Amino acid sequence: MIERILVTGGAGFLGSHICERLVDAGHDVICLDNFFTSQKTNVVHLLDRPNFELIRHDITLPIHLEVDKIYNMACPAAPGHYQFNPIKTIKTSVLGSINMLGIAKRCGARILQASTSEVYGDPEEHPQTESYRGNVNPIGIRACYDEGKRVAETLFMDYHRSNGVDVRIVRIFNTYGPRMHPYDGRVVSTFIRQAMAGDDITLFGDGSQTRSFCYRNDLVDAIIAMMDQDDFIGPVNIGNPDEFTIKELAEKVIAMSGSKSKLSFEPLPADDPTRRRPDISLAKQKLGWVPGIKLDDGLESTIDWFKTIRLSDYRPPTPNFK
Ligand code: NAD
Ligand code: UDP
Repeated sequence: MIERILVTGGAGFLGSHICERLVDAGHDVICLDNFFTSQKTNVVHLLDRPNFELIRHDITLPIHLEVDKIYNMACPAAPGHYQFNPIKTIKTSVLGSINMLGIAKRCGARILQASTSEVYGDPEEHPQTESYRGNVNPIGIRACYDEGKRVAETLFMDYHRSNGVDVRIVRIFNTYGPRMHPYDGRVVSTFIRQAMAGDDITLFGDGSQTRSFCYRNDLVDAIIAMMDQDDFIGPVNIGNPDEFTIKELAEKVIAMSGSKSKLSFEPLPADDPTRRRPDISLAKQKLGWVPGIKLDDGLESTIDWFKTIRLSDYRPPTPNFK
């Protein structure tokens, strides 16, 4: 069945891939974005498709649309971006969610929230299951994102319980791949850009902190599978449980890009989680989903994509970018 689907943050890294999949599947797709952390480049190839529409809009402001489904992906996701204007970040998660939940309530639409592993903060439980309630510093520099996303989950559950809104919640763990903004400051894009330029690789702390990296295709498969679930609303962890230290990642990127870059050690930002790995048993059981793309293969595709872009076509979204 062809559906009218709204993707907020649809011009971003993940949103643009979701739009592409849905357009290819024949749905009528509305991509809504304020272009804070993305550029039209990500969706320009969809603009001449008759079932794709692009709206410049900020989800903190109300908008009147008629849709069957909503993927609520809009929110700055990289630490440098969400800390640039932290109050705006909270507004995007809170006011933005209220506005999108309002559309879902009025239209009887199903709505999926892109939540995050950051709801677990600096976790004391490892790996993280969905029942773990997290260890977030509510007054720290990551709180605008972490607490904003936690409130968004609360809003989704309350609209579900109080108003019967058909919600879905996915908790996304670090995801990477082509169309990451080269100046987003996230670790994969930064290390690849630095390695390709022969610049020093900036390791924060001693590089012993861990992350588990999921390739974007696996992630998009899981998000769309979750949206299509009839009897399961989540929250569900979506990520790749293969865990690496950040130093291991740096060494891999240097080797795979044939770079002569050296490691440079810089101070660890406040509240940087020390370990992160998803327990994906629930996603396996409910969605029949497991990620299939190994870090080496995903990095190879991402490095290949970085070779095709011109960095001068991208502007750093936040002026204080180093
Ligand atoms: P991204 O920055 O590339 O995409 C976010 C998009 O939202 C951008 O296009 C941006 O311009 C837009 N946006 C931001 N604020 C907006 C607003 N107020 N109104 C309208 N549009 C707005 O980041 P991404 O990696 O594609 O992340 C997409 C979503 O997934 C985010 O909600 C993020 O929190 C979540 N997520 C991503 C990851 C990851 O590793 N990529 C991990 C956890 C959660
Ligand atoms: N990191 C790093 N150097 C960089 C960027 C990030 O060492 O240039 C580290 C960062 O401190 C964190 C990890 O890489 O421990 C992942 O950072 P990212 O910003 O990609 O995402 P996070 O999972 O912290 O939100």
